[in-house]
Amino acid sequence: MNGVPFNKVSVERVKIIRPILEFMKNKSLRSSIACFSSLICAFAISAQAAMPGKLLVVTVTKGFRHSSIPTAEKVLGELGQKSGAFTVDYVRNDQEMAEKMTLAALRQYDGVIFANTTGDLPLPDRQGFIDWVKSGKAFVAMHSGSDTFHGFPPYIEMLGGEFQTHHAQVAVECINQDTKHPATRHLDATFRVFDEIYIQKNFHREQVHGLLALNAHPNDKTPGDYPIAWCKMFGKGRVFYTSLGHREDVWDPDWTDKNGKRENSREVSQAYQKHILGGIQWALGLEKGDATPQTK
Ligand SMILES: [Zn+2]
Repeated sequence: MNGVPFNKVSVERVKIIRPILEFMKNKSLRSSIACFSSLICAFAISAQAAMPGKLLVVTVTKGFRHSSIPTAEKVLGELGQKSGAFTVDYVRNDQEMAEKMTLAALRQYDGVIFANTTGDLPLPDRQGFIDWVKSGKAFVAMHSGSDTFHGFPPYIEMLGGEFQTHHAQVAVECINQDTKHPATRHLDATFRVFDEIYIQKNFHREQVHGLLALNAHPNDKTPGDYPIAWCKMFGKGRVFYTSLGHREDVWDPDWTDKNGKRENSREVSQAYQKHILGGIQWALGLEKGDATPQTK
């Protein structure tokens, strides 16, 4: 045999093992290893936090169905892709709701978007869903997300308002209530948009952080407080709602009607997209923004 003689192997082995034994006895070295491992752990956790959020986009309707829903679905997917902030799965019908929104199935998601939903949705466990959001998830809704679950007070309480009525579509000048919030920091002091403007009920100014509002009725211009968009904490969960988003040309800068016309400029849609993207990122905890009510 042309290998190393046996006694030589033993010596070599001791040479390797002894420093390891010495090392095990050395407390300070051991604690630095522990430090190093926790550093690795911290790095892994921060890497995880930077992972895109997983969102469910729900477009099921039990009342009025907006023609802008396919546009909304497309825009939300694109915003997630372009920003890298989130990925989306869709819940478009009752069967998908039954499969993807059980409490067990929701475990893999960071939040849910109600994009122009209406009516009493067949959630497998609606109170369980509210509690799931409250446990620290993101809940985002656009436009008729407030025309949803009228007969289920815990939903209204979570959202912070409830659709009452609307009149003819109209151009409004929304007041920017927080020029630092990710949902509104790109906007000037006011944001002009042409849309179907909702009048809300069961809204409590002292329970939400206002983002956009009107200081007069959208149609008859009587002075008053007319909320348009807001955010709020809900337990450990984060809720962002904007009542804008009836029209396709609010959502999509490229949309035109069959005559090639739009009511909103491309810039208005681009601003709306930043508005909802910022709101989603805030709700996912990826962007900082104030959620304390401005009036107590
Ligand atoms: Zn509408």
